[in-house]
Amino acid sequence: MGRLMESPVTPVEQRVPGRWQIGTVTSIKVETPRVKSFWIELPMWMEHLPGQHYDVRLTDPKGYRAQRSYSIASSPLDRGKIELTIDRLEDGEVSPYFHDVVVEGDQVEVRGPFTSYFVWRGEMPILLVGGGSGVVPLMAILRHRRRTMPDLPMQLVYSVRHADDVIYADELGEDALLTFTRDAPDGWEGHRGHIDAALIAEAGIDEGLAFVCGSNGFVETGSQLLLDAGYEPHRVRTERFGPTS
Ligand SMILES: Cc1cc2nc3c(=O)[nH]c(=O)nc-3n(C[C@H](O)[C@H](O)[C@H](O)COP(=O)(O)OP(=O)(O)OC[C@H]3O[C@@H](n4cnc5c(N)ncnc54)[C@H](O)[C@@H]3O)c2cc1C
Repeated sequence: MGRLMESPVTPVEQRVPGRWQIGTVTSIKVETPRVKSFWIELPMWMEHLPGQHYDVRLTDPKGYRAQRSYSIASSPLDRGKIELTIDRLEDGEVSPYFHDVVVEGDQVEVRGPFTSYFVWRGEMPILLVGGGSGVVPLMAILRHRRRTMPDLPMQLVYSVRHADDVIYADELGEDALLTFTRDAPDGWEGHRGHIDAALIAEAGIDEGLAFVCGSNGFVETGSQLLLDAGYEPHRVRTERFGPTS
C-alpha cells in the first residue's frame, strides 16, 4: 500500500466546549444574603441551550485545582457572555471563593457548555420545579421563553427556605408559584411548607415536559410528586446539585 496522502484539512484551533478558556467577570449582583450572580465575558463564547452548565476551575499558586459545575442562568440571546449564579456553602471550596474573593474585572477559568439531556429545545408546555439554587437553570429556560416565545405555557414552582432566600425575586411574576419552607415574608398569603401534590396541581400543567432541579432530596421528592400526578418518567428531566457522597 502506498503512503497516505497528507490531510487536505487545515488544522483549526479547538473551540469550546472541550477547551478551557479565561473569562472576565464584568458584573456581580447580590441576589440574596447567600447568593450572587456573576456575568462572565468569554473570548470563545458558544451558544448554549437553556439548562446547560459550565465547569469552573480554580488553581492555587501551588498548582492545586478544584473544579465545580455551575448552570447557566442567562438566555443564549445574551451573546458573548454567560451569567452564573452561585450559592455560598459555608464549608465549601469554590463557592466561598466566588463570594469572598472574586471582584469585577477578575479572570476565571471556565469551559462549556455541557449536557445534552437537561436542556430545553422549545418543547411545550413546560413545568419547572426548583429548590434553592436549583432554580438557576430553570431561570435560563424561563428567561429564554420570555424573550422568544412569551405565549408558550410555562410555569415555575419554586421552593425556598427563608423570606430573604428568593433568587431573581425582581423577575418572578405570574409564571412563578413560590413556597417558603421555614419562614415567609410578612403578610405572605401564598404557600408554605414543602412542595406537595396540591402545589403541583395548582401549576396547572399536566402535559409536556417537566424539569426538576435542586438538592438530591429535593429532586427525589419533586420527581415522585410528578410521577404521582401522572407524568411518565420520560417526561421528567432532572438535575442534581447536591453532594455525591
Ligand atoms: C450540573 C451541576 C450544576 C450546578 N449548578 C449550580 C448552580 O447554578 N449554582 C450553585 O450554587 N451550585 C451549582 N451546582 C453545585 C456546585 O457544582 C458545587 O457543588 C457547589 O457550589 C459546592 O461547591 P463548593 O466547592 O463550594 O463546596 P464543596 O467543597 O464541594 O463542598 C462543601 C460541603 O458541602 C457539601 N455540598 C457540596 N455541594 C453541595 C450542594 N449543592 N448542596 C449542599 N451541600 C453541598 C459537600 O458534601 C461538603 O460537605 C451545580 C452542580 C452540578 C452537578
